[in-house]
Amino acid sequence: MKKDKAIVIGSGRLGSYIASELSIQGHDVIIIDKDGDAFRKLSDQYSGYRYIGDAVDSEVLEQAGIEDADILIATTNNDNTNLFVAHVASMIYFVEKVYLRLGDIEKSTLIENTSIHAIYPFKLSMEEFKRSFGGDLHENRHQ
Ligand code: AMP
Repeated sequence: MKKDKAIVIGSGRLGSYIASELSIQGHDVIIIDKDGDAFRKLSDQYSGYRYIGDAVDSEVLEQAGIEDADILIATTNNDNTNLFVAHVASMIYFVEKVYLRLGDIEKSTLIENTSIHAIYPFKLSMEEFKRSFGGDLHENRHQ
């Protein structure tokens, strides 16, 4: 298996899970969070690096090694931060695989015609609910 160099932004529940999983799979991982306490959510098996800093600062991204990263996953609780960092990673540093967490599905227009992949927690929860509920739910715009 090729060992990828991955940068995860935000060590909340999603970010710390993804970072832990990639680390356990043998990838070279660094996780950035502006709050050092957030790293407590990482698994005991996480063996990557931890970096305290604001990911919208390109110096922080460079110190984390974005210039030779293969994957970047932006999982902060702020869609605009995730969009900004994902665009910077993809368009300025040419990171091959870029993912971002988006709370607001309507913001997906901002990554149209890019190679950035979005993870929509709300949509995934709704799909899971619809699957387990079984009945016909109508499409609605309560997002
Ligand atoms: P959660 O609220 O569980 O989704 O976690 C989101 C995480 O993203 C928190 O630990 C925040 O400290 C972190 N975060 C938010 N904005 C930034 C940022 N600009 N740079 C780095 N980490 C951030």
